[in-house]
Amino acid sequence: MNNNLILPIVTDKTVFNSLINMIVPDPQHHSFISQEINNFLSRHKAATIAMRLGLALLKLQSRLYYFKAFTQLSEEQQFDWFKNSHKPWRNLLLKALAVPIKLAYLQSPELHKSLGSRVQLPEVKAEKFRWQQQIVSLQDLEDETEVDVVIIGTGAGGAAAAYEMASKGLAVLIVEEGEYYDRSHFNGNIPKLLKSLYRKMGMTATFGNTIIPIPLGRNVGGTTTINSGTCLRAPDKVLNDWKKNGLSDFPAEELNPWYEQVEDILQVQPADDDAVGDIRKVITQGAESIGLKKIHVLNRNAVGCDGQGLCQLGCPTDAKRSTNVSYIPRALESGAMLVTSTKATQLQWQDGKIIGVILTQSNNKNKTITIKTNTAVVAMGSLLTPSFLANNGVKNKWLGKNLSIHPCGAVHAHLPQYNFSNSQKIPQGFGVSDHKGEGLMLEGATPPLMAYGLMLKETGSDFVSKIQRYQQTGFFGFMIKDRSRGRVFPQKIKGLPLVHYRMNNEDFKQFLQGIVSLIRIYLAAGAKEVEIAGSPKLPKISSEDDIKKLFSLNLKPRDFLITAYHPLGSCRMASSKDLGVVDTNLQVYDKQGLFVMDGSVVPSSLGANPQLTIMALASRSASRLANQLLNETY
Ligand SMILES: Cc1cc2nc3c(=O)[nH]c(=O)nc-3n(C[C@H](O)[C@H](O)[C@H](O)COP(=O)(O)OP(=O)(O)OC[C@H]3O[C@@H](n4cnc5c(N)ncnc54)[C@H](O)[C@@H]3O)c2cc1C
Repeated sequence: MNNNLILPIVTDKTVFNSLINMIVPDPQHHSFISQEINNFLSRHKAATIAMRLGLALLKLQSRLYYFKAFTQLSEEQQFDWFKNSHKPWRNLLLKALAVPIKLAYLQSPELHKSLGSRVQLPEVKAEKFRWQQQIVSLQDLEDETEVDVVIIGTGAGGAAAAYEMASKGLAVLIVEEGEYYDRSHFNGNIPKLLKSLYRKMGMTATFGNTIIPIPLGRNVGGTTTINSGTCLRAPDKVLNDWKKNGLSDFPAEELNPWYEQVEDILQVQPADDDAVGDIRKVITQGAESIGLKKIHVLNRNAVGCDGQGLCQLGCPTDAKRSTNVSYIPRALESGAMLVTSTKATQLQWQDGKIIGVILTQSNNKNKTITIKTNTAVVAMGSLLTPSFLANNGVKNKWLGKNLSIHPCGAVHAHLPQYNFSNSQKIPQGFGVSDHKGEGLMLEGATPPLMAYGLMLKETGSDFVSKIQRYQQTGFFGFMIKDRSRGRVFPQKIKGLPLVHYRMNNEDFKQFLQGIVSLIRIYLAAGAKEVEIAGSPKLPKISSEDDIKKLFSLNLKPRDFLITAYHPLGSCRMASSKDLGVVDTNLQVYDKQGLFVMDGSVVPSSLGANPQLTIMALASRSASRLANQLLNETY
């Protein structure tokens, strides 16, 4: 490698060279990788110190384990060290140092050119709309401004509630901790968009018998801006079960007109076949061969979607009707105001009634004002609402408990006979729902190239060849209707919600059923090599015998990559305060004027993607509340 390319900032250049060569043994990318890391380090002093320290420690470790300098290790020794799974702590540093190298490689324009994918979309100029004038910052608001309702959060629940109340003529102030972005911002640049659109760069997770990441949105649109756009109603059976379990006075059929309204506003319709791509053929062929019948494109809120492959990074064409382009504009057109980069920090009470909400600028704790109101709607999402309520005087034994999450698994397969054009198709446009009734739903789950690359456990030529076959890799996933329940604690750690979730045996069994279903589908569709996302312990599967081998292992939840996207139920709705936190109008028990309208009120796991249900519940209650407030006031 050309030494002149190597970072002036990194002192251990030879070690660093050797490391790059080990992780990405393809010299044509080395200069780009070096430059990228160099640029990054020159802007981040702490990262430079960490890198220097890391390299120094790596040198030391090499001497300790192999009695040799790192640069003198044979390729075999380096890989042995990287794979070292019997003493996992030994390779932690090596794996950590590999991350920036992989990240830089995955941004290489040359790589993307060769794969026919895009590292970043060209710049576009977004349209300007009159309703955008209703978006203000905290400085624009006067202290003691008085409004009918303050709505905290602009995600599925908050945005639907805001539209419903503003359109009836109430003075509504919507508060959002994140910023407002238009589609010109949604250019596919993962590091930049993780920072601007996700809470804590997507690092929110549960702890328990395994760690389960649950990414959350923090922007105008909340998690809907970064979601996959799938729109399913809750199964009737689930709604009927609510009636039996603590919701005797909830008329489930009353939700139907609200579902219809939400579907109308979001323009829900089946995904376009072409935009779904060839994964449809593979899954159809495989699923039919093993006797499954309910194989279909998914309903989505994305009319005109041409498959940009970037739903989870904000839709670059505005086709996806996330709330930033659907409900929020409607609410603002109806006269609501939206204050962004502003956190609701405290509720003010007098004689048991709400009298105000204190707002603080997200990046400046000293800038604070009070908004006078008698009605506050909390819609911060299932992982944040409970701690806000607990810290604002709500006491209820269910607060923070009853959390369901729809745990998800993923399986992918190498199918060289296909070119899936993964970066230009809908990531989640297809599904198989034969086992939906039992709580297992198979759905598309194609990650962008960079996310896939960072998930790979391989290094060196194995890593590079996996990346090279990205377009010939079929991705699919599943979610389960969980029976396990987690808990959100009132405390936060550096702004991260503290969430415990332990997957029980019954759910783990169903999780394994999801894994096996997908393996069999891929094998029946002609895949020669199927891989399960998870630890290196999991074997590659090419036959039924391999499935047997898989099950001969002592499998645990922590062996798999389990993720979740649908936290629900941490402030459950119930017919009495002994059974839940909010009543069927979504008012907090014993707290006049305080409402919760987000995923946290959904009493149980749904077994279907939840945004429609959250919006339908919020719309119904917001409409009732608006009528009540208008009758009282005018
Ligand atoms: C990658 C991904 C894919 C998904 N795909 C789908 C899908 O295809 N279909 C589906 O139905 N669901 C999907 N979901 C889930 C769905 O988007 C969420 O269930 C839904 O958005 C939750 O709505 P919510 O109102 O509870 O909270 P959110 O949408 O999370 O909104 C909460 C908002 O409150 C704001 N907030 C929090 N605290 C404060 C505060 N103190 N002050 C001011 N603002 C605050 C947050 O910044 C955020 O904007 C997906 C989720 C993810 C992460």
